[in-house]
Amino acid sequence: GPNLPFGLGRSKAKFQMEPNTGVTFNDVAGIDEAKQDFEEVVEFLKTPEKFAAVGAKIPKGVLLIGPPGTGKTLLAKAIAGEAGVPFFSLSGSEFIEMFVGVGASRVRDLFNKAKANSPCLVFIDEIDAVGRQRGTGIGGGNDEREQTLNQLLTEMDGFTANTGVIVLAATNRPEILDSALLRPGRFDRQVSVGLPDIRGREEILKVHSNNKRLDNDVSLDVIAMRTPGFSGADLANLMNEAAILAGRRSKDKITMKEIDDSIDRIVAGMEGTQMTDGKSKILVAYHEKVTLIPRGQARGLTWFIPVEDSDLISKQQLFARIVGGLGGRAAEEVIFGEPEITTGAAGDLQQTTQIARQMVTRFGMSEIGPWTLIDPSVQSSDVVLRMLARNSMSEKLAEDIDSSVKKITETAYEIAKNHIRNNREAVDKLVEVLLEKETLTGDEFRAILSEFVDEPVIKIDR
Ligand code: ADP
Repeated sequence: GPNLPFGLGRSKAKFQMEPNTGVTFNDVAGIDEAKQDFEEVVEFLKTPEKFAAVGAKIPKGVLLIGPPGTGKTLLAKAIAGEAGVPFFSLSGSEFIEMFVGVGASRVRDLFNKAKANSPCLVFIDEIDAVGRQRGTGIGGGNDEREQTLNQLLTEMDGFTANTGVIVLAATNRPEILDSALLRPGRFDRQVSVGLPDIRGREEILKVHSNNKRLDNDVSLDVIAMRTPGFSGADLANLMNEAAILAGRRSKDKITMKEIDDSIDRIVAGMEGTQMTDGKSKILVAYHEKVTLIPRGQARGLTWFIPVEDSDLISKQQLFARIVGGLGGRAAEEVIFGEPEITTGAAGDLQQTTQIARQMVTRFGMSEIGPWTLIDPSVQSSDVVLRMLARNSMSEKLAEDIDSSVKKITETAYEIAKNHIRNNREAVDKLVEVLLEKETLTGDEFRAILSEFVDEPVIKIDR
């Protein structure tokens, strides 16, 4: 739809207003979960009075979190389009170079206009530009930015949920936002929009080849396979470039040649980013696969042993967790060689070291014997507390603890490396499948593994 800039008085408000975006959920592919999260928002915008009548609480502000080009703006427009309400938008980065007082009055104008046109949707892109933690700049922060942020907070508080205005804000850096923005009644809901996986990419490619003529040799699932790390915007760009190339080559259809050439050009443009670097992807693939064994379904979850945990865990199980936790690092060393090991294992090492230390100091599972060697209240990761605890024990005991932890870890690491060496075929097969599919469920993973190993492959919980 056409963008109609508003020229409102002194502040020359430059926010955009589209009476009807014309975008629907069908235009947004590969982020079904995020779309589902907004179905009730669409219903609310269609008939706010129905919700107000029964006293339903609808969020006023939702934060969309995700990297650039993943469809956050598109999704916001689709919500407005589906509901048939106007779409107001403003970008946080535009505030930066404005004169004193202009940012705040622009925010005020935007909200006045939105309230006068409710029900409607307000979209604030790059909210981090204006919403960074206050008082963190050099010399006490940027007054202009803080005034704008304060005005935004005031506006968010100034209307009730049943006014029929929903505010969506997008950011790629939620961690730097002022916590005041995230309080109840402001942006108290968060929806993540990540880079699409292989199936998501295929769905997005479908959307962007709708209006294009493709030769029979073009297969969208092959393109999806070749484009790990591409955002929705990259994929839209890819299909468009391919169409331009086909036109330039006077072809009446886009062939795989144009697609391949366009992929090469886009990848060259992203050079240096992690996912497109062939080797780092393989490293990640090795890493994930091996650590998948002990972690079961809990991929990426942190292990910890709660103090009041009533389940009994054996020494053997704890040791197996350490072996598993070291699997990623072991795979790197065995497959790529010691000089090629990476920082990728840092999180794993932290966990395995913590388990080993607890085995020694807390569970009495080392040659030092069945003692509690550290006051349980000092089992924290706090360095100062740990130092205090150490000061109250003998030098000799502190050394014994360290050498026991080291011995457990070294033994586990040798076992992990042997597992990789002895199962190299299985590892390579898993890497091949993972590079193609990107994600494997625990069941798929175990199915592949059992083709290569004699022992039964069982699921380990916890
Ligand atoms: P963001 O706001 O997250 O930076 P945009 O919504 O501006 O990303 O995406 C830019 C363009 O990329 C969209 O207009 C659309 O053409 C394409 N695009 C991005 N994500 C998707 C998606 N999930 N489905 C379809 N097209 C997408």
